Amino acid sequence: MASHEVAVIGQEARCSDVLSVRFERPAGYTFAAGQYLALTLRTAQGRETKPFSHSSGTGDPHLEVTTRLSGSTFKAALSALEPGDRVSIAGPAGRLTIPADERRVAFLVGGVGITPVISMLRSRDSATAPETVLFYGNREPSCIPFADEIAALAGERLSVVHVVEEAPEEWRGERGFITPRIVRGRLDPSDGWLFVVAGPPVMVSAMEAVLDALAVPASRAMIERFGPPA
Ligand SMILES: Cc1cc2nc3c(=O)[nH]c(=O)nc-3n(C[C@H](O)[C@H](O)[C@H](O)COP(=O)(O)OP(=O)(O)OC[C@H]3O[C@@H](n4cnc5c(N)ncnc54)[C@H](O)[C@@H]3O)c2cc1C
Repeated sequence: MASHEVAVIGQEARCSDVLSVRFERPAGYTFAAGQYLALTLRTAQGRETKPFSHSSGTGDPHLEVTTRLSGSTFKAALSALEPGDRVSIAGPAGRLTIPADERRVAFLVGGVGITPVISMLRSRDSATAPETVLFYGNREPSCIPFADEIAALAGERLSVVHVVEEAPEEWRGERGFITPRIVRGRLDPSDGWLFVVAGPPVMVSAMEAVLDALAVPASRAMIERFGPPA
């Protein structure tokens, strides 16, 4: 992986504790939607490096990563970055890329697990893109990262199923967690769908159980776990 020193362009608060940070895109830096980069920051503990999926589209002029601020030293340093600060990135890496000949793709993601998916959605050509269903789990409707952008992208080839854990009475979407019932209500899993799962380890383990219950073979699932198994 090539390593680059790049300048911070700016930050965008997505909702409550979810933050996007944009960096200069080095000349000649190319990546496939779904891949990640390794970001190195100077933190209170010295130099720390963590992987982050690109949340920017492949054609965007900048690079973007998006994360949930946790209180860790790394996230404290990330949220303190200001335009012009320099950081080190290395990338791209990873194999979470949708083969060009897939015709049906179902995403099962929660919270910041949306990052590789928003990159894919931002990068695709809506005329030739596979038929896509995004099952998107979040704790509360008031903090669904990229909700407006996803709503704007939704249409003939992209449908979105929001599943919210703590829903107010007026919530019209699904409640609780993504379950086999919710998935089966929208598609027939045996009908050529490629299932893509991404997110924190707890979320990924829960989605693996959903895939098992749906009898999805390993060959029809792509999984990106944002850390060691839960
Ligand atoms: C391929 C890949 C892609 C990834 N893509 C993304 C992505 O797009 N977005 C993303 O957010 N993450 C992504 N990750 C995970 C990311 O690399 C980090 O591991 C993750 O964000 C947690 O880092 P952290 O610094 O918050 O927590 P860690 O330091 O790893 O600690 C784990 C947890 O401990 C708690 N904690 C730690 N320190 C403190 C403290 N001082 N005070 C209070 N609580 C604390 C926090 O709750 C934290 O969540 C990816 C990982 C991989 C492997």
